Amino acid sequence: MQITGKISEVRSQVKEWKREGLTVGFVPTMGYLHEGHGSLMKRARSECDKVVASIFVNPMQFGANEDLDSYPRDLEADAKLCESIGVDLIFHPEVEEMYAEGFCSFVDMNGLTKELCGKSRPIHFRGVCTVVNKLFNIVTPDKAFFGQKDAQQLAVIRRMVKDLNMDVEIVGCPIIREEDGLAKSSRNTYLNEEERKAALILSRTIRLGEKLVSEGVKDAGELVAAMKANIEKEPLAKIDYVEAVSMDDIEKVDTIGKNTLVAMAVYIGKTRLIDNFIVES
Ligand code: AMP
Repeated sequence: MQITGKISEVRSQVKEWKREGLTVGFVPTMGYLHEGHGSLMKRARSECDKVVASIFVNPMQFGANEDLDSYPRDLEADAKLCESIGVDLIFHPEVEEMYAEGFCSFVDMNGLTKELCGKSRPIHFRGVCTVVNKLFNIVTPDKAFFGQKDAQQLAVIRRMVKDLNMDVEIVGCPIIREEDGLAKSSRNTYLNEEERKAALILSRTIRLGEKLVSEGVKDAGELVAAMKANIEKEPLAKIDYVEAVSMDDIEKVDTIGKNTLVAMAVYIGKTRLIDNFIVES
């Protein structure tokens, strides 16, 4: 497995693979990898000849009061996980390699970002779209793999690829959870013992939401109210949002139906965690 921080080295390696007629799968990450990331890499491994993973904590997608400086990093452990899955190349650039002096071009979106994380993190998706666009231009993958854990991000990337005619297939992958239900996240490492227990309120509330939908609840207001009431029982939890939106355009819906995304962001102490489910039928 090759590790490089140089855009030029990624380009020449990928060009060589393409000359040989090999397909390239790409998994963009911010590192501190866990089995959620691993599942994306395994999927890429199974569907493509070569797999590239990027590890880059992208400053552009963090707001001023967010956790850019404290975001966990461990390249050695990340490399081990990638190697064990059969990743061929890790791209691990410095900030200066990605954003050279004078950088002033952005990719932004006028829809899909008004609700959910876009509402609480106003500059977030501009940063995500810009960096993913750059990474796609650098890696030129045939397929790129994203987790449903960040469901709004997945919808935003799909839209960007469609709107801008980008020649890459986006593959969405299911949420991977800890044994007790908590969605795996690099940010789980911020939680102390008490908070780790309290964080289960997210997955429990997701299960409650799924149960209510399966029992026939169709009114989005009723569903969201029941889920919020459940979260409020946990003293360490503070709701950022619980919303029901359409997975296609991330606009609020009144009625729950096929393709409704029910998503939440909840602070446990200072740590902001997200979780969601998509209504299948
Ligand atoms: P991040 O490193 O948090 O930017 O995540 C990189 C990619 O891994 C994104 O596509 C995430 O949606 C995905 N991911 C993160 N956590 C999980 C998880 N628990 N299950 C599935 N995918 C995940």
